[in-house]
Parts: sequence; C-alpha cells; structure tokens
Amino acid sequence: MPTQVHLASGLDVMCHAMESYTAIPFHLRSAPPNNPIERPAYQGSNPISDVWSLKALEMVVEHLPRVVKDPSDYEAQKQMLLAATFAGIGFGNAGVHLCHAMSYPISGLNALYRHPQYQVDHLLVPHGISVALSAPAVFNYTSQMYPERHRRVAEILGADMSQVKQADIGAVLSDRLRHFFQDLKVPNGISAIGFGYNDIPGLIKGTLPQHRVLKLAPLTTESEDLHKLFEDALTIY
Ligand SMILES: [Zn+2]
Repeated sequence: MPTQVHLASGLDVMCHAMESYTAIPFHLRSAPPNNPIERPAYQGSNPISDVWSLKALEMVVEHLPRVVKDPSDYEAQKQMLLAATFAGIGFGNAGVHLCHAMSYPISGLNALYRHPQYQVDHLLVPHGISVALSAPAVFNYTSQMYPERHRRVAEILGADMSQVKQADIGAVLSDRLRHFFQDLKVPNGISAIGFGYNDIPGLIKGTLPQHRVLKLAPLTTESEDLHKLFEDALTIY
C-alpha cells in the first residue's frame, strides 16, 4: 500500500477515535423512538465505545508516524490495522461528528486537487485527508463541551495537561493536532487543496444536511459556527 494511503486511512482512524469519544453522550440524545426500527444508527458516546476509541487513539499516535516514516515497518502497519478495527468498534456504535460532516463537501466540491500516490485518473481528496483538515478547528470548538474528554485526548497526543486551565484545553489540543499533522506533512488546511474564503458558503451548504453525523456533535452547530470552523481550517500550521 502506498505511504499516502497509509497516511490518509490512518488519519481517518484517528478522527473516528477522537470524534466518537467527544460525541454527544448517549443519554443526552433526543428521546428514544417508540418503535425500535426507528432507532438512529449511532448512539452517541458511551462507556463501551470510550474504551475502544481511547485505545485506538493511543495506537494511532504511536504507530501512524512510524508507518509514514518507514514503509517497511510492518509491526507499525499491523498495529494500525488493529487500531482501525478498534476505532471501528468504538465509532460504529457511538458515531462521529463534525470532522466527518464537514469532510463530505470538502471531498465532494473538490475542483483542483489530486492527492499524491493515488493511482486514479480523476481528482481526489482521500476521505482521511478531508476529515483531518478540520480537526484542529473542530476540537478547539467542541472543547467547550466535555473539556475533560478533550484534556484526555490532548494527553494521549503527548501534551502535559497538568497545569492547563479548563478554558485553554481546546487551544492546547488544537496545537498538538497541528504539530502532529505538520510532522506527517498533511496538506496545510483546505486552502492547500484549492478552497478559498469565498468557497466557505458552499462548504457550509454541503455540511448542514449531514444530520446523521452533525447531530452527534457535542453542541448544536449552526451556519455561523461552521463558517468559523471552515475559516479556521483554511490553514492548519
Ligand atoms: Zn471516516
């Protein structure tokens, strides 16, 4: 598998883990439907998913940089395969939220970008790249809800959070993500794949109908919030 496919799919695993761990808690979702057949696909963060999501995140932080830097590091590749499955068990029940909701228009409205090493004859923003580009902006924003969960994520990313005040957790986490992505040479924000400030209204329009995931965000997110998030995602580092 080309290194860039490892990178993109690994970033997807990472976002699956972080989004499912910070999704709205299962008991705060809207009232359960009368008929079980109308149950939503995703339940929100819950104690069982938490275990899988946190473990997957630890594995990604340790092994994704190794996979990207050394294509012959099969042990790290093996651990990433396992991490993908672990995160899948976590988010397959809890669900994901804003990075994924924003990723669909990022990939769908792409008019310029073809990611390196993907042997396709059309433009392509790989799914994992499109979810990662908004992550520093998203987790800075969502940290106002469930800050202790965001603190835990930042710790797994290597931050010393012992002296960090609650109000600063989002900024510290966002910073760790920016460094993590820069180190892996992830494209520097949505501007690096061809989007400009004037494209933001179109990106918002493509995000708002993604109820399946948007409604799992830890806080209600309107057009103006999305505008700020896309603006912040124009460049990452
Ligand atoms: Zn995904």
